[in-house]
Amino acid sequence: MTNAFAKVTAIRGMNDALPGPGARWEQLESLVRTWLRTYGYRNMRTPILEHTRLFTRGIGEVTDIVEKEMYSFTDSLNAESLTMRPEFTAGIVRACIEHNLLYDRPQRVYSMGPVFRHERPQRGRYRQFHQIDVEALGLAGPDIDAEMIVMVARLWKRLGITDVRLELNSLGQATERAAHRAALISHLEQHVGILDEEARRRMYTNPLRVLDTKNPAMQAMANAAPRLFDYLGEESRSHFDAVCARLDDAGIAYTLNPRMVRGLDYYNLTVFEWITDKLGAQATVCGGGRYDGLFELLGGKPAPAIGFALGMERLIDLWEQYAPAPADPECDVYIVNQGEEAQRRAAVIAESLRDQGVSVIVHAGGGSFKSQFKRADASAASIAVILAGDELAGGTASVKMLRAADSAVQANQQLQVPLENLVAFLKDRI
Ligand code: ATP
Ligand code: MG
Repeated sequence: MTNAFAKVTAIRGMNDALPGPGARWEQLESLVRTWLRTYGYRNMRTPILEHTRLFTRGIGEVTDIVEKEMYSFTDSLNAESLTMRPEFTAGIVRACIEHNLLYDRPQRVYSMGPVFRHERPQRGRYRQFHQIDVEALGLAGPDIDAEMIVMVARLWKRLGITDVRLELNSLGQATERAAHRAALISHLEQHVGILDEEARRRMYTNPLRVLDTKNPAMQAMANAAPRLFDYLGEESRSHFDAVCARLDDAGIAYTLNPRMVRGLDYYNLTVFEWITDKLGAQATVCGGGRYDGLFELLGGKPAPAIGFALGMERLIDLWEQYAPAPADPECDVYIVNQGEEAQRRAAVIAESLRDQGVSVIVHAGGGSFKSQFKRADASAASIAVILAGDELAGGTASVKMLRAADSAVQANQQLQVPLENLVAFLKDRI
C-alpha cells in the first residue's frame, strides 16, 4: 500500500531551478533575448504537445529521438497519439505552414523553453531540458548560414566563454547522399562483425546515422568510412566554401568534421556544432544546420531554412565556469514593523515605493526586532526600514543602511526620516 504521507519527488532527469540558481536562468534568458534582437529575431511560441506524426515525419523514423527518446502517449479522449516536443524545429515549421508565415517574406524567429527526451540521465543529459532555438526561414544563401554561426560566436563573447570550438560539415543534397550511401553500405557490410545492434538495424535504413555512433568500438570503422563530403557536387561545394569564406571574414576558426551528421534526419548542406572540453562527455553546447526539405516534408510549399539549438543546461554549466553567480537579493528595501498600526502603514508605504519601481518586502509573520533584522539581512536588501512605536507615532521611520549604498552614507548607519519624505529618500538611495 502506498503511504499517503510519503514524499512525492520530481521525475528522474527533470530538474527544479530553485531561487538563487534561478537568477542565473533569468539572467541568461534576458541576455539571450537582447542578443537575438540585435540580429532581428523575434520570439514565437508553439505548444509543448504536438501530434506524434509531426515528429516521426519531421525528425525521421530511424533517429535516436524517434526510435527511443520521445514521450508519447495516447490521448484517452480521442485515441490520438501525442508527443511532448523533443525539439522545436518541427513545431515551428508546422506553425509557419499553418499560418502561412512565409507568404510575403522570410522570417527570423526564436523560441526558448523545455523539451523532453527519454534518455539516461547524467551530467548534461536530462529528460526535461531547455533549448534556445533559433530559425531563419525562407532564406537559402550561405550568407545566412555564416551569419547564424557568427551569431553564436557573439554569444560566447557576450558570456565570456572562450573554450568552445566550431566543427562544420556539409551533408550536400539528396542525390549526393544517395551516391554516397551505396559506398557507405558496402563499407558497413565489410565491417558487419564490429557493428553493434543499433548499427546493424540502421545500416540499410539510415546508414549515415551509423557514423554518428558514440560506441568506442566502432570509431575506427566510422573514421575509415567513405566521406559524404567527397561526394559533394559543384554547387554543394561552393555553398560550403562560401560559408567558410564568411567565417574567415569574421575571424572565426573551424574544423571540417566529415563524420558529423547531426541527430535529426532533415538536414542538408551546412551542419555545425559548437563543442567544449569543459563539460565532460556531453560536449556539444550548440548544434544546427540547414533543412531545406522540411517544409515540403511537412506538407508546406518548399522553403529553404536553417536553424540551431543551444542546450541551456549545458550552456549554464559552462557559463558558470567563467562568470560568478549573479547577486540575487530578495528585495531592495525590507520593512521591519511591529504592531498592527505599523504593519498597516508599512503596507501603504511599500505600495508607494513599488510605484517608483523599488522592490520591497514588508516583514510578515511578526517576531522580535532581532529576528526581523536577521530576516532583513538574509534578504540581501540594501536598506531596512523600521516602523514602530513612538517614532511612528511622531511621524518618522528609522532607516538602516544594511549595505553601503553611496559614499555619503555609511553601511549600518541608522537615520531618522520623516514619513512624508521616506519614499523620495529611499528611492534616491537604491
Ligand atoms: P547529443 O548528441 O548530445 O545527444 P543531440 O544531437 O541529440 O545531442 P540536438 O538535438 O542537436 O542534440 O539538441 C541541441 C542541443 O541540446 C545539444 O547540442 C545539447 O546542447 C542539448 N541537448 C541535447 N540533448 C540533451 C539532453 N538530453 N539534456 C540536456 N541537453 C541536451
Ligand atoms: Mg541526442
